[in-house]
Amino acid sequence: MIFDYPSQRTERTHGPSGYSTYESYRPWLRDEFTFRCVYCLKREMWGQVTCEFELDHFEPQSVVPDRELDYFNLIYACSRCNSVKLNQGISDPLKILTSNFVVVLPDGALVSDNLDAKRIISQIDLDSPKLRSWRVMWMRIVDLANERDANLYQQLTGFPPDLPDLGRLRPPSNSRPQCIAMSWFAKRQLGHLPQSY
Ligand SMILES: [Zn+2]
Repeated sequence: MIFDYPSQRTERTHGPSGYSTYESYRPWLRDEFTFRCVYCLKREMWGQVTCEFELDHFEPQSVVPDRELDYFNLIYACSRCNSVKLNQGISDPLKILTSNFVVVLPDGALVSDNLDAKRIISQIDLDSPKLRSWRVMWMRIVDLANERDANLYQQLTGFPPDLPDLGRLRPPSNSRPQCIAMSWFAKRQLGHLPQSY
């Protein structure tokens, strides 16, 4: 299901560091967050014309200015969610916005009985009537494509063609270089990239 949140993660896959601009982390973050907004799960492939994805400072720069260039403080988010989050301090979505804690109903509503998850849903306004109907619209579009247009279905649920080749990036340092082998690019090289996700 396109709006099912991923399973809980205790840590990130990648660990690049030392870049002098936070934009340099973009390819790592695209891979880490599977080319979609960590909050609302909007996908790159649903709007490829403009660059709608931003690098959100999880702990706001106003609170921890020294973590501006810290990979572990950067999150891949759509411009809508990033602009709603602003300077709010929130729980780590990799641990909280997960299928263990949040269920998406067929009417687009988000349900959770976890207090931290409820708080993020409220802070990012993820269960607003607008987002509920947006989810229903996309579920319907993807269902229709699945029934009638295999290529379109593939586009809407598959990976973007420009998977970042992290092995060529050579960041100043990387605490988890072995994890580049787990990147989506590496999976595609081996023929292990799923058709859809
Ligand atoms: Zn979003």
